[in-house]
Amino acid sequence: MIESLDILAIAAHPDDAELLMGGTLARAASNGKRTGVLDLTTGAAGTKGDEATRLEEAARAASVLGLAVRENVGLPDAHLEATVLNRLQVAHWIRTFTPEILLIQHAGGRNPDHYAASTLCREAAYSAGLASLSGDAPPHRPRLILEAVSFLAVNPEVVIDISEVMETKIDSLRAYASQFDQAIEAGDILSNGISDLIEQVRFRNQAYGALVQAPYGEPYVLGHPIRFDSPLDILGRSL
Ligand SMILES: [Zn+2]
Repeated sequence: MIESLDILAIAAHPDDAELLMGGTLARAASNGKRTGVLDLTTGAAGTKGDEATRLEEAARAASVLGLAVRENVGLPDAHLEATVLNRLQVAHWIRTFTPEILLIQHAGGRNPDHYAASTLCREAAYSAGLASLSGDAPPHRPRLILEAVSFLAVNPEVVIDISEVMETKIDSLRAYASQFDQAIEAGDILSNGISDLIEQVRFRNQAYGALVQAPYGEPYVLGHPIRFDSPLDILGRSL
């Protein structure tokens, strides 16, 4: 069944979308846009929290962010690969959700699942638009793909101002008690020796916000030129 979304975020593990794109999703939802998250795995191979706990936490975070939908593809955690079969599964979900904008992870960082997710999602977005790919839902290709680069040493090309919803983003992270309670690091956020994880997320979003004169921002790369009719159109653009 088609369930149209304005924005779909796809990420390797539950909590990745919140860490990287939570503010972008929360702000869009607060502006009346339909948003969703597709988690590729349940994160079951992680050292903290069993599968059931992580799914419950993901559902709680979804309601904090105001997501219209959240689904899990159920691919193998810690063994995520951009195979043709996995691509077809993700393409099916992209056709189901028909997003205008797709948010994915940038192919960098330490976790192989993250760069596999980036390649898999980009390939799936292309395949979803192919008329020759059969399936229940008609072909659909997102109009724009943004790759989230938070916490990586990559210069962003787009920063979404998330100042109004920074606390909502933090609340969505707190929903993952099994992962972040007392945590001082997670994934590509390594301990700086003095701050807890939530503080570190706040610092980073503050630093990215400062690049565009906003209190808090989430950074993305496009990887291709974008057309404007007038330079004036660049000003004041937001979700
Ligand atoms: Zn992850």
